[in-house]
Amino acid sequence: MTEPLRIDLHTHSDRSDGTDSPAELVRKAHASGLDVVALTDHDSMAGWEEAERAAADVGITLVRGLEISCEHEGSSVHLLAYEPDPQYARLLAELERVLAGRNGRLPRTIERLRALGMTISVEDVHAVAEDAVATGRPHVADALVARGYVANRDEAFDRFLKAGRPAYVHRYAADLTAMIELVVEAGGVAVIAHPWGRRAGSALDRDAIADLQAAGLSGVEVDHNDHPEPVREELRAIARDLDLIVTGSSDYHGTGKIDFELGCNTTAPEEYARLMSAAGVGR
Ligand code: AMP
Ligand code: ZN
Ligand code: FE
Ligand code: FE
Repeated sequence: MTEPLRIDLHTHSDRSDGTDSPAELVRKAHASGLDVVALTDHDSMAGWEEAERAAADVGITLVRGLEISCEHEGSSVHLLAYEPDPQYARLLAELERVLAGRNGRLPRTIERLRALGMTISVEDVHAVAEDAVATGRPHVADALVARGYVANRDEAFDRFLKAGRPAYVHRYAADLTAMIELVVEAGGVAVIAHPWGRRAGSALDRDAIADLQAAGLSGVEVDHNDHPEPVREELRAIARDLDLIVTGSSDYHGTGKIDFELGCNTTAPEEYARLMSAAGVGR
């Protein structure tokens, strides 16, 4: 009997807030025994071409994706979009808006930190976010680490950067329902990332998930390290009941997130097959 495919559908490179280049990430995915890996940087498809070349080199299947910052009834929700048309103008325009929100927030975050007595500049953040298209709070955290103000990203979030802390600044995010419709219009497949994650401000219940499905949602990420086991079971039951695709993934960020190693959660081959058929990709 052949071994089942090992499939990880959520990872970040240094085009957003991961620490590996897209090519390094793909090579590590192959070396760690994965057969399929999705690159899903925040709000950007900038890593796709490099990742595709590396995937062809080492012989691993790449799924092209991204994780879009959305908002639903005042709460932040992350939407995984797989295989949308990378040239689809309305999608690109909306991503530009989200990226502008990220860049616009940066100087205001820095001002807050300076008011708290920390000597840090926008240039410090750009220095640690060299290859990033989507800059974010993890890069601010890295700059604080580099200046010796905190020991790691977690401490930076806990003390300064997470919602409710003194250097938190709100930024623009796309409307979730409208974004699901747009991803589908762009030929992609929409899956909610870590819907009940520890860090999520939202509580998407069954009815809300059913409404999103009516808007075009195809799946939910159930197996994720931010979901404790009982949460996974409850969410999996809802997904089965609604006939949504169930995914599992690492949300790997390189050294940027501890205990989120490649392949620490995986997606069942039959769920992956449903996802690819929804994307119109014959595999
Ligand atoms: P941003 O994109 O600027 O809104 O920042 C969100 C990113 O920061 C996500 O990729 C999270 O994985 C990461 N993040 C959120 N909370 C923490 C935390 N406590 N420690 C480290 N990273 C975090
Ligand atoms: Zn991230
Ligand atoms: Fe996320
Ligand atoms: Fe993520």
